[in-house]
Amino acid sequence: CGIVAYVGHRDAAPLILKGLKRLEYRGYDSAGLALLEGEDPNQPGLNVYKKKGKVVDLENELAGKERHASIGIGHTRWATHGAPNDVNAHPHYSHNRKLAIIHNGIIENYVSIKQNLLRKGHVFRSETDSEVLVQFIEDIQNETGSSLEEAVRQALLEVVGAYAIVILSKEDPTQLIAARKGSPLVIGVGDNEYFFASDATPIVEYTKDVVYLNDHEIAVVRDGELKLITLENTPATPYIQKVELEL
Ligand code: GLU
Repeated sequence: CGIVAYVGHRDAAPLILKGLKRLEYRGYDSAGLALLEGEDPNQPGLNVYKKKGKVVDLENELAGKERHASIGIGHTRWATHGAPNDVNAHPHYSHNRKLAIIHNGIIENYVSIKQNLLRKGHVFRSETDSEVLVQFIEDIQNETGSSLEEAVRQALLEVVGAYAIVILSKEDPTQLIAARKGSPLVIGVGDNEYFFASDATPIVEYTKDVVYLNDHEIAVVRDGELKLITLENTPATPYIQKVELEL
């Protein structure tokens, strides 16, 4: 239901948790966070923290520990597929534990995609449609050896439904990939940092420069650069707008 993601130079965990609280008005049943963290920025661990309940419950669980993460994705879930519980909460991660996803919306054809993946030996932890998408992207990467960006694009070409997603990969701690169709997603463009959120409220205290992602667009942030492509693989120009929001 609510998405907040960050890559840059700030402490990602508190920033994302604060952003998720700003989105609480949208309603939700669970909250979660995935971080690339560790002392060595070149070899980060992918850690996922998620829980049924309020953002503050998650925050309490995380409290009192240094996080060392400057990239992360966070989510508040409003369950559509699978009961509200810890396992079904987002983020979901891939079979090889290299990718994590947050997803708003519904993947309508997830059952047929899941059946194919089950035949190939994928093991699913949750009952969600969202986990199917991240495992599907991983599977395409494994099959084709293509970049994450291309695997995301290929996967989304097969997806029926509505989504706003953000994906993080253990293999590149400078990279976040986002896409949308039918669910809103805003990108905040800061000074060598990027924010992603379902609406601008979690972003405005850091930057007023925002890009409203269009349907059928994929945003790739890597090494401090933002680029957009369409699902048909045509480059698109990010249109940066000034947002004014009263908080
Ligand atoms: N369909 C997904 C789920 O049930 C995402 C729900 C949402 O938008 O929060 O996990």
